[in-house]
Amino acid sequence: MAQIVINNLRKEFGSFTAVQSSSFTIEDGEFFMLLGPSGCGKTTTLRMIAGLELPTSGQILLDGQDVAQMRASARDIAFVFQMFALYPHMNVRKNISYPLVSQGMARKDVRERVEEVARILDIGNILDRPVGGLSSGDRQRVALGRAIVRQPKAFLMDEPLGALDAEFRERMAEELRALHDRMGATTVYVTHDQLEAMQMGDKIVVMNHGVVEQFGTPQNIYDWPATMFVADFIGSPPMNFLHFEGAVKPGTGSIRLNDVEVAVPVQAGEASGKLALGVRPEHVVIDDNSPVRGIVTATEYLGTTQIISVATQGGNLKVRAPSSRIVGVDSQVGLSFRQGALTIFDTKTGRAVL
Ligand code: ATP
Repeated sequence: MAQIVINNLRKEFGSFTAVQSSSFTIEDGEFFMLLGPSGCGKTTTLRMIAGLELPTSGQILLDGQDVAQMRASARDIAFVFQMFALYPHMNVRKNISYPLVSQGMARKDVRERVEEVARILDIGNILDRPVGGLSSGDRQRVALGRAIVRQPKAFLMDEPLGALDAEFRERMAEELRALHDRMGATTVYVTHDQLEAMQMGDKIVVMNHGVVEQFGTPQNIYDWPATMFVADFIGSPPMNFLHFEGAVKPGTGSIRLNDVEVAVPVQAGEASGKLALGVRPEHVVIDDNSPVRGIVTATEYLGTTQIISVATQGGNLKVRAPSSRIVGVDSQVGLSFRQGALTIFDTKTGRAVL
């Protein structure tokens, strides 16, 4: 097991900077997500942790020891490649044993360790089957078995479920998480899927254009996005932004939004100019008594809830409301915002100021 500290890690490819000085800490035993859109530098970060790519500068402290410039094989970290990459001519037992046999472990010890892994993954009954005829779920378990058999300090996974269809993907995600909870090994997992990151991760790093936008627990990132990028990338539908021009000061407790006074949390930072009020769809309430008005442009039925699109002076926003609340398209509605669930962004820097 291992703690991994990433300290000012940077990677340049020629004149292109794929990862700008990144810093975050992966605690021992955490299921840690590297999340961001395509090209944001998450795979490059993972490959540097693995030792498949050498950083331009910065440190990777594995239990306190800087391994940034060390060979991959010296790091005792397992990179779980494409989950289906098995040796097709070998049976399940041989596939799982392979890393131990190639390390020169005694046959009896190999046998014991493989049986133990098979128990953890519940694949004891297929150990002597060829991998060719296995279901995709079993193939995935065998591939995992080959990764965990060596008991490395940490596991690295790059979109391991990316190729799977939705239903199977969900099941494997649950299995992976359960497996992690049983073994407790530090796991670093790359994904571009915010839902997967929120569901599986203990902590998430959100990256964009090679920059760490935010680092924290799923709840922290969802409730208190540090930047407009994070607010927009996380959540479905994403956070609403209502644009306004003005000033907020610590302790004022309210802002003027198109001539309407809106209360905001009082622990305010200071900002002025072009600002945006960020509010999640579930924190907007259709409220006939509110002076903030808008016109309903569409409704989307989702079962117990619905998403109501409303055009306001400050911009369009989406409201998550119970389906029992009937609103007509083109009708005028009042909107209020739940206290304690608002964020103010400076649109120039994109950063939260409250
Ligand atoms: P994806 O999900 O598409 O893999 P990613 O977030 O994992 O995206 P990276 O693979 O880390 O992104 O790539 C980050 C940027 O670095 C991309 O613009 C990519 O083109 C560039 N890059 C990655 N590897 C190299 C390389 N060996 N040489 C040059 N540029 C590279």
